[in-house]
Amino acid sequence: MAGHTVVVLGGGTGGIVAAHRLRRELAAEDRVVLVEREPVYRFAPSFLWVLTGERRPEQISADTRRLRRRGIELVEVEARNIETEAHRVETSNGPIAYDRLVVALGAELAPELLPGFAEAAQNVYTLDGALAAARALEGFAGGRVAVLVSRLPYKCPAAPYETALLTEALLRKRGIRDRASVNVYTPEPFPMPTAGPEMGAAVRGILEARGIGFHPEQAVERIEPAARELVLGDGERIPFDLLLGVPPHRAPAPVRESALAGESGFVPVDRATLETSVEGVFAIGDVASIPLAGGRFLPKAGVFAHGQAEVVAKRIAAELRGRTPSADFDGNGACFLEMGDGVAAYASGDFYAEPAPQVRLRRPGRQWHLGKVAFERYWLWRWFR
Ligand SMILES: Cc1cc2nc3c(=O)[nH]c(=O)nc-3n(C[C@H](O)[C@H](O)[C@H](O)COP(=O)(O)OP(=O)(O)OC[C@H]3O[C@@H](n4cnc5c(N)ncnc54)[C@H](O)[C@@H]3O)c2cc1C
Repeated sequence: MAGHTVVVLGGGTGGIVAAHRLRRELAAEDRVVLVEREPVYRFAPSFLWVLTGERRPEQISADTRRLRRRGIELVEVEARNIETEAHRVETSNGPIAYDRLVVALGAELAPELLPGFAEAAQNVYTLDGALAAARALEGFAGGRVAVLVSRLPYKCPAAPYETALLTEALLRKRGIRDRASVNVYTPEPFPMPTAGPEMGAAVRGILEARGIGFHPEQAVERIEPAARELVLGDGERIPFDLLLGVPPHRAPAPVRESALAGESGFVPVDRATLETSVEGVFAIGDVASIPLAGGRFLPKAGVFAHGQAEVVAKRIAAELRGRTPSADFDGNGACFLEMGDGVAAYASGDFYAEPAPQVRLRRPGRQWHLGKVAFERYWLWRWFR
């Protein structure tokens, strides 16, 4: 009997888990095809340890080709067009037809959307950028460090705050803290706003206890590299000596140009099943757009990409085996907040709770930092062994 073909677009956090789980759940004659353009997977949560010099790139990287050992058909090409009517994806090496499609292409970084970012900022959201930022910090003898969130939405709501805390700890360790200031500028009203004002106040308290300035609702219009200034919408200028930046994000081009895209370019999905407006097509992780109670959206984070991948794999497998799918994504998630000095905090909760997400921050401690180290090791072993 001829099997079905399930195509997964994107071999990042969500795509890797989806492909593994599909391979395990589907019948032997069904194919799992994973389309990924990069030969190497990078564990993004550890970019911040690259920034502090605690990790080398090879310690947080894995060869994507190892997925072939699990029976996943990895195709190393670029996805170009998602043609939902024809049930196929056009790639840099011809079309790939599918019976079911899982879109896991993530969010694209678009530094060019903020004039001056590429020239003036250290982009802490890529591995190369984190390495360059580490070198810049090494050569930094004192002055004003600005941590900038360029635009909303961006992935990992904790990362800019971790960047500020880890940088502050590093400057202290190097004995130059008294010669430096650290300030965070963000369009958000308070840190990690989806998790609610209490969480925001707690994270703000952690920053301020370490002498880190927090500047909410700052809409930076452009950056002037020569003058080393952030220029706000109202004309105010904020000088810096070292700029650690989160670049603007947008939906990847093949998604923006497809029938799946919503108004923002990201893909609206059913929050429980992750199915898009097109039958048989699912979107998971950063590329998906899920409104929550209170008017915000589910944060873009690996923990959600992972949970959603498990659900989608189960649903597709059940359906292809003629059963009624029953797995639902419940909106639960957790994240570590690295603070430096071998200490982290931990936030976890239910983002689908009504009338507002219920998320709790655990007291900072060494155990959460060790938990993140263990998770990093586990993740790279679990999917690439
Ligand atoms: C510095 C930093 C720290 C973070 N820390 C955390 C954390 O502590 N906890 C947490 O939960 N999340 C964290 N995240 C966020 C997390 O990494 C992402 O939310 C997660 O990777 C999203 O998974 P995804 O599968 O949706 O997308 P991705 O993992 O980004 O994968 C998308 C994949 O699609 C591929 N791709 C894109 N376009 C194409 C194309 N046209 N053709 C072929 N392939 C393509 C890309 O190469 C990529 O491999 C962090 C992110 C950063 C940058």
